[in-house]
Amino acid sequence: MTATVLLASNNAKKLDELRRVVAAAGIDGLEILGLGDVAPYAEPIEDGASFEDNALIKARAAIAATGLPSLADDSGLAVDALNGMPGVLSARWSGGKGDDANNDLLLAQLADVPDTRRGAAFVSVCALVTPDGPPIVVRGEWRGRLVRDRRGTAGFGYDPLFVPDDDAAGGRTSADLSATEKDSLSHRGKALAQLVPALRDLVEGTPR
Ligand code: IMP
Repeated sequence: MTATVLLASNNAKKLDELRRVVAAAGIDGLEILGLGDVAPYAEPIEDGASFEDNALIKARAAIAATGLPSLADDSGLAVDALNGMPGVLSARWSGGKGDDANNDLLLAQLADVPDTRRGAAFVSVCALVTPDGPPIVVRGEWRGRLVRDRRGTAGFGYDPLFVPDDDAAGGRTSADLSATEKDSLSHRGKALAQLVPALRDLVEGTPR
């Protein structure tokens, strides 16, 4: 059998990552579309109080507009010393001025926070909504600490400041990891991995 799932995102990297996860899991016959592949619709305002709320807002808007099983992710950085902020405001932390300004602001806010209290986690919540069955919502977290200067040129967002706790990262920031290394450790990789059984069910037609 075959099935289609819409990833409610314009981000080509997220689309590639989902395709890699599905291929690695050996799921055949699942066509993965992005927002560029469907008729445009008014994207919803992400005004939820949690990653879960925002992921569901995006996935529900996608299925309402297209009728397709729809997957959406919402992610961000939760800093221990800021009681979990920037959290759902991660992308807009500097008021919409972009990644560089977000990193500058975060560095300034943490300037007096000692190395022993610079822990943080990247969080990714993915929601899968289908025409039948309840929504499936999964969460992946990636623990690390924030350094005082940018390092590395890969990735995006707060990657140049984030050193994962994993031994495999060897003290490098997530902007110093290859895409494959990041996939195998990251919050989004961990969340997507939990969706594999539900994505397989879409193809095999198993009712949930
Ligand atoms: P979104 O869920 O893709 O809109 O991501 C929200 C924001 O969280 C991004 O703009 C980044 O600032 C931050 N973020 C989420 N995931 C990552 C990551 O893997 N690396 C760096 N920053 C991230």
